[in-house]
Amino acid sequence: SNARDADSAIRQTDTDAAGARLSSVQKGYLPDSFVKAFVPRAHLQARPPLINVGTYVRSEGIDELVGGWLDLAEQEGKKAQIVSMGAGSDTRFWRIETGPRKGRLAAYIEVDFAEVTTKKAMAIKKSKDLCGILGQSEDIKLESGGIALHSPIYHLIPADLRLPPAATLGPALAASDSSLLSPNLPTLLLWECVLVYMSPEASFSLIQWFVEYFSHGTGPLGGIVYEMFGLSDSFGRVMHENLKARGVSLPGAVPYPDVASLPNRFLQHGFTMAHALTLRDIRRTYISSSEAERISTLEMLDEIEELELVLGHYAITWGVRLVESSNSLKAPW
Ligand code: SAM
Repeated sequence: SNARDADSAIRQTDTDAAGARLSSVQKGYLPDSFVKAFVPRAHLQARPPLINVGTYVRSEGIDELVGGWLDLAEQEGKKAQIVSMGAGSDTRFWRIETGPRKGRLAAYIEVDFAEVTTKKAMAIKKSKDLCGILGQSEDIKLESGGIALHSPIYHLIPADLRLPPAATLGPALAASDSSLLSPNLPTLLLWECVLVYMSPEASFSLIQWFVEYFSHGTGPLGGIVYEMFGLSDSFGRVMHENLKARGVSLPGAVPYPDVASLPNRFLQHGFTMAHALTLRDIRRTYISSSEAERISTLEMLDEIEELELVLGHYAITWGVRLVESSNSLKAPW
């Protein structure tokens, strides 16, 4: 059916994202020894400099916010939880657990379509490196015929995020003996390049479901959304048409014509604060001069105008919903 083709085009975007990440790793932009385990050999080709730079800026920007969240949790004397939705082949869990903030997580939960979680669970089981970081082999369990994976901290669960969370995500998080997600720990919700593929109504219900889940606890809630926006200007329309030609539409981007509108993703749910920055502004202002210098030596990038035009249509939005007990949680978040 058409709906099935559209979903398969959406899932295919993960193969693109992982291939782009591997390309920027191989060019020296990003360190990540885990991503190659998730990229099929057929997708190993190098990407153009513009894609590598975009992948680098996006990844650094989100890593900075995630690191800041883990630091804030530590200041409160708590471990943190992360729920990454539409996680695809993302490697962030393994990078955190082998980096300077290792041991700071109480739970890391990834959600994606069953087809994607099944592939990822198989890739994890095949890799000694990835499994070794999850725990002892007897603590790593494939469930439901291999579409879900559980380990002491890391969990991979299948769900279609467009469906009512109370019927899908809710039962999946409650599945084992005790809930996978405590409402009493500082928890970060991550949507890296996924809400654009969903209707605004479905995204609204999803975020609101988490707000209600945490309204019964003491854990402050943080959220990060990375997405394309601004489809109504001429360049945005061209980018959207290119995606449509590959069967991908972006219903979730429609209510966000400009960067000023993006914080509403969180503010409409009563978040205490929210900010958004385009990748263009992050590249210009937030990448240190020594990093900028290092990056500039990796590849020739002569189309700076085009780069800025493209990066100006992608943004990272982040927000926090504080609870009374977490009044020490302040800037930089
Ligand atoms: N977050 C990863 C990253 O940034 O590298 C992957 C991004 S990829 C562009 C989008 C991912 O979202 C895909 O893995 C896709 O299967 C997933 N996705 C899109 N719509 C979804 C839905 N309704 N339910 C679950 N997953 C979804």
